[in-house]
Amino acid sequence: MHAFNYHKASSVADATAKFAASDDARLLAGGQTLIAAMKMRLSAPADVIDLGGIAELRGIKVEGGNVTIGAMTTHAAVADSKEVAIAIPALALLAASIGDPMVRNMGTIGGSVANNDPAADYPAALAGLGATVITSNRKIAADQFFTGMYETALDPGEIITAVSFPVPKRAGYMKFKNPASRYAMVGVFVAETTSGMRVAVTGAGPSVFRIAAMEKALGKSFTADALKGIKVPSDDLNTDIHATAEYRAHLVTVMAQRAVEQALGK
Ligand SMILES: Cc1cc2nc3c(=O)[nH]c(=O)nc-3n(C[C@H](O)[C@H](O)[C@H](O)COP(=O)(O)OP(=O)(O)OC[C@H]3O[C@@H](n4cnc5c(N)ncnc54)[C@H](O)[C@@H]3O)c2cc1C
Repeated sequence: MHAFNYHKASSVADATAKFAASDDARLLAGGQTLIAAMKMRLSAPADVIDLGGIAELRGIKVEGGNVTIGAMTTHAAVADSKEVAIAIPALALLAASIGDPMVRNMGTIGGSVANNDPAADYPAALAGLGATVITSNRKIAADQFFTGMYETALDPGEIITAVSFPVPKRAGYMKFKNPASRYAMVGVFVAETTSGMRVAVTGAGPSVFRIAAMEKALGKSFTADALKGIKVPSDDLNTDIHATAEYRAHLVTVMAQRAVEQALGK
C-alpha cells in the first residue's frame, strides 16, 4: 500500500473540515471496499478520514413509522436488531445475507450505499422501500440517489449520516447469490408501501432499478403468479464471468416471485 495520512474524525463537522483541508481525501467506514482497493493500488488517497470514532453515526431508531439506521451501523447490527426484525423483517434478512461474518461485522450501511456496487444488497432495499438518504447537508430520496455504476448523487466530501426506511405493509427480498462472495447476481426487493407497490432490482444492471410493469401487476394482485408472465428485457443488463444478461433477466422474474412469497410469509 502507498503512504497516506490517517485522520480520526471526532464528529461529522470535524470529518467535513478534515476533508475540506485536503486535496485528495477519502472517507473510511468499515474499510471492506476502500482498504482492499488501496491494497490493490486502485485507490491511493493522500488522506484517509476515519468515521469509526463518531458515536452519533451508529445506532438504529424506530419511530414515527420509520426505521432510521446510522451510517456507521454494521450489517451484523442490522441483522441482529430485534426492532428491525419486527418492523421490516426483509431488511434484517437482507443484512444477514451480506458476505461473511467478517464483512458483516466491519461493513456499514453508509459505506455500502455510498459505494453503490452494482451487486450490493442495500441499494435494493433503499429503492424497494422508498428510503431517504440523510447526509451532512441534505436529504436525498433513494430514487434520485443511485445514479449509475458506483455513482451516487453525493457531492465530494458529503457524508451520509443515516438512512431512513418507511415501514412497509409487507416486504420481501430474495437474491441469487454469487456462491463465492455472496454478492447478488440478482436480488429483488418487493414491498407494499403506504404509497404503493415497489419492485427494485440489484445485481442485474449497472445500478439498482425499478420495474414498473411488476409494480402495476402487484397493485392488482399481490401474488407470485401476478409476475409470472412479466419478462425483463436483457439489453441493458450485465454480462460477466458469472452470468449472461439473458440469464440475469430470467433470474429477475424468478427472484421477484420468490420475494413476493417471502413477503406473504410462504
Ligand atoms: C468478501 C466480501 C464480500 C462481500 N459481500 C457482499 C454482499 O454479499 N452484499 C453486499 O451488499 N456487499 C458485500 N460486500 C461489501 C460490504 O458489505 C461493504 O458494505 C462494502 O465493502 C462497503 O462498506 P464499508 O463500510 O466497508 O465501506 P468502506 O470500504 O470503508 O467505504 C466504501 C466507500 O464509501 C465511502 N463512504 C463510506 N462511508 C461513507 C459515508 N458515511 N458517507 C459518505 N461516503 C462514505 C468511502 O469513502 C468509500 O469510497 C462484500 C465485501 C467483501 C470484502
